[in-house]
Amino acid sequence: MLNEKEKKQIRAVLEEQQKRLSKTSQNALNYSMNHERNIGRDSIDESMEEEIFSTEMRLHDREKFLLGKITKQLARLKAGEIDVCEDCGEAISFKRLMARPVTTLCIDCKEQSEREEQAAEQAGRGGFGDLGGSLGGGDGETETKISTTGLED
Ligand SMILES: [Zn+2]
Repeated sequence: MLNEKEKKQIRAVLEEQQKRLSKTSQNALNYSMNHERNIGRDSIDESMEEEIFSTEMRLHDREKFLLGKITKQLARLKAGEIDVCEDCGEAISFKRLMARPVTTLCIDCKEQSEREEQAAEQAGRGGFGDLGGSLGGGDGETETKISTTGLED
């Protein structure tokens, strides 16, 4: 169990992160709105616009996701269960909570879930590699050369 002083310290860290995220989140939103008004005035490449927009949305989603985690942790803190692992019910150390205030897993469960994530990521990357290999770029050039030679003759 955490003592009052430790709880206070964790709450301070969480609230600080919450404040910072709310701010960036608001900035991103303002930027998107200003940005929308400019579309149509300039004829910037549309696909470029879409790419910028989707990047912003992805950032925004990430901030929302983190804010949700922080809100959840503050509730767990209030309920006196922030140091209880969601998976196995074992205690999460104060040191770990200070390093990763949004964690809800003890180190053992976290390592387990990271191993699973890594395995999934590696499987994904393998697929990409195969796609890149089949794209090969030399064929177009050869065709151009042949048709130019044909015209000269
Ligand atoms: Zn655990």
